[in-house]
Amino acid sequence: MTPSTDRNEALFERAKQFIPGGVNSPVRAFKAVGGTPRFVQRAQGAYFWDANGQRYIDYIGSWGPMILGHGHPAVVEAVQKAVLEGFSFGAPTEREIELAEEILSLVPSMQMVRLVSSGTEAGMSAIRLARGATGRSKLIKFEGCYHGHADALLVKAGSGLATFGNPTSAGVPPEVVQHTLVLEYNNIEQLEEAFALHGAEIACLMIEPIAGNMNLVRASVPFMRRCRELCTQHGALLVLDEVMTGFRVALGSAQSVYAREIPGFAPDLTVLGKVIGGGMPLAAFGGPRAVMEQLAPLGPVYQAGTLSGNPVATACGLATLREIRKPGFYEALSARTRSLVSGLQAAAQAEGVAFSADSEGGMFGFFLLPELPQNYAQVMKSDNARFNQLFHGLLARGVYIAPALYEAGFVSAAHSAEDIETTVAAAREIFRTLQK
Ligand code: PLP
Repeated sequence: MTPSTDRNEALFERAKQFIPGGVNSPVRAFKAVGGTPRFVQRAQGAYFWDANGQRYIDYIGSWGPMILGHGHPAVVEAVQKAVLEGFSFGAPTEREIELAEEILSLVPSMQMVRLVSSGTEAGMSAIRLARGATGRSKLIKFEGCYHGHADALLVKAGSGLATFGNPTSAGVPPEVVQHTLVLEYNNIEQLEEAFALHGAEIACLMIEPIAGNMNLVRASVPFMRRCRELCTQHGALLVLDEVMTGFRVALGSAQSVYAREIPGFAPDLTVLGKVIGGGMPLAAFGGPRAVMEQLAPLGPVYQAGTLSGNPVATACGLATLREIRKPGFYEALSARTRSLVSGLQAAAQAEGVAFSADSEGGMFGFFLLPELPQNYAQVMKSDNARFNQLFHGLLARGVYIAPALYEAGFVSAAHSAEDIETTVAAAREIFRTLQK
């Protein structure tokens, strides 16, 4: 048999021998869409090049962090400087304070912040803190929201509101998820019922305010208002998981978007990741001083990390935040993202394809459905085969979107009007051939 001349295929075969499934995070394996994952050789601006030297317009941007595009000169310079000063010390640095000050100045609901290395770690720590601070065990999450792979969060709904969740992964003992109640997103009635039944035992309600792990589905304003009211009324903490939306949908993150509609709206705890690291392993969680001071070394809630506040990651994050806070940044990013969404919408309409789409800041989602879904069950009514046809059609035309229909997409400041036009033109060609 002659070896493949496709370098992506050859690398995938080699990777599969040594790395489970050939990848270090499952969605990269293209299992949902079939075919061979593209192995990235390098990236610059809005593009990356695969192992065959093929260029793609990148709408994933490392699943959210690359809001400036790849290789932004100010960020590269900051990282290069930091690397020369040392990789990791395990002792505090001034840059950690600078990053904390920068984050807190942009997200006023947070008075203190703790830096960690991944969104999973940040979410898991925020839950431990909420439990420690309230002295309660139970937590509410919503179907279709992903908060990282901590055991207590790998859970699907039980058979009713009285029964708590069932694990969604092998290796998670049922006892570990017995305190997690999984509810339907945007379902106010069910939320009220859950608090009526369990309110006094609930430590926190954790939610993606604009969910990006069931494509893009917004929490409705009345639903978010009710989440806030019920948490306050029952002494539970409202934890917004802004790992994806933080500094992605607005400079003040998704909480600022809801505060426009709900006067005084603020979560108790915020979980951040992705953009705050600018592509380096960095995440954070934070909230009011009185709650955050429950953390070790001040308080009884233990939390730690060898690489937490890493000097290279903080340099990258800080340089990124300093770029995105420049005047006009979000106006331009939002307009560019909207032009993509409206272009795709118009192309689908012209070709008679049922289509709905939404965006906020630099985050977008689209569905081959006539109406925007409101929850996970509705998202899953999308036709996988047609999505896969669209995905592979775009890939063949040099456009890289998420390889699964339940993932959001991301536009960066480096995407040009021409990139958007190319993408829309490619999509239109595929819409023409899609089964109606
Ligand atoms: N929370 C949300 C909303 C996410 O989208 C993700 C990752 O995609 C996480 C948490 C977990 O973050 P990480 O992959 O950095 O552990």
